[in-house]
Amino acid sequence: MSLCLILCRCDCKSEYKVDEERSSKYPFVGALCMNGGDVDNSYTTKSLLQKRVLSITNPILVKNTEEMLTNLDFPKCIKVADLGCSSGQNTFLAMSEIVNTINVLCQKWNQSRPEIDCCLNDLPTNDFNTTFKFITFFNKKLTSNGSCFVSGVPGSFYSRLFPRKSLHFIYSIYSIHFLSKVPDGLEKNKMSVYITSSSPLSEYKAYLNQFKRDFTTFLRMRSEEMVHNGRMVLTLIGRNTLDNPLYRDCCHCWTLLSNSLRDLVFEVYSFKMPFYDPNEEEVKEIIRNEGSFQINDLEMHEFDLGHSKEKCSLQSHKAKAGQKEASCIRAVTETMLVAHFGDDIIDALFHKYAHHVSQHASCRVKTSVTLIVSLVRK
Ligand code: SAH
Repeated sequence: MSLCLILCRCDCKSEYKVDEERSSKYPFVGALCMNGGDVDNSYTTKSLLQKRVLSITNPILVKNTEEMLTNLDFPKCIKVADLGCSSGQNTFLAMSEIVNTINVLCQKWNQSRPEIDCCLNDLPTNDFNTTFKFITFFNKKLTSNGSCFVSGVPGSFYSRLFPRKSLHFIYSIYSIHFLSKVPDGLEKNKMSVYITSSSPLSEYKAYLNQFKRDFTTFLRMRSEEMVHNGRMVLTLIGRNTLDNPLYRDCCHCWTLLSNSLRDLVFEVYSFKMPFYDPNEEEVKEIIRNEGSFQINDLEMHEFDLGHSKEKCSLQSHKAKAGQKEASCIRAVTETMLVAHFGDDIIDALFHKYAHHVSQHASCRVKTSVTLIVSLVRK
């Protein structure tokens, strides 16, 4: 197993454009990255939700890996990329599933094992070092000794990351709901860091337009990088509402974050999440309009922050559920919140957040869902 870190690529023009946009009116977006390290409040220790999401994605990952392999007639070298790998072990859970699937299928069909290039991408601010520390964990997960080469690819997935027609398989889990920037033209909405039922319709339109722009760019970049008949599996947070585009339930994570900030008397209007939760129809339409990919699977699953099945009648259970969700959201948002509000508020903010979650512990109607879509490069 070899390990290397690719430091940079040279298409500086498009990188520059993305960087410029990321740091425009909402400079905190430039701080977007999950909490690094491997101690308290780090993404590594608090990304249990994302780990569960991976187990939901697994059957589609395996199915598409098998189809890719047979459709491409067992290539001798296979390049796989995880876009938005973050820090920690999750990326290797998915990667080992794909590598093992390839090796099992090769054995079944009496084919020699290919060399596999495993590329881990995230923003340059990501803590790649913590991820690379899990390389032994990855090795242990592999069921046979094929040749695997692991590398890091720092850069935005809204720009080109790989040479033309070089990738056979791409996956991205819980990453592409992050936008390249906060949309332009948001009215000052003092109440919330994201769309809520009280937002003006223009806010939804601005977010949807930004998502359309970003997701279309994402698909275009990947269409250049992938081989014909290559596969891509994308898992993201979406919403299950088809009618009122403003409606988000009372315990939507950004609604609870807004409530917590307001409890601390922080004005929220200059802090907006660079995030969008599309519904199935919006996702399908963007893929159709971009035109390079055929939809293979499209599934909608429950968005499970881990406490929905816990007995929430006891106060202690409610409190525990609140703390769990708070630490998960903290690991994802802390760097941006600190860049905007400073770090003094963080402990108090997530204490409030945990309290708000516990107040909603018995809510059962959720607008947030997990969307999984698999695509074939035409
Ligand atoms: N896939 C991982 C991480 C999800 S967290 C898991 O399942 O656990 C989302 C990750 O997407 C973060 O690490 C964040 O830095 C990354 N990300 C967000 N926008 C990105 C972009 N434009 N380019 C590359 N990575 C991005």
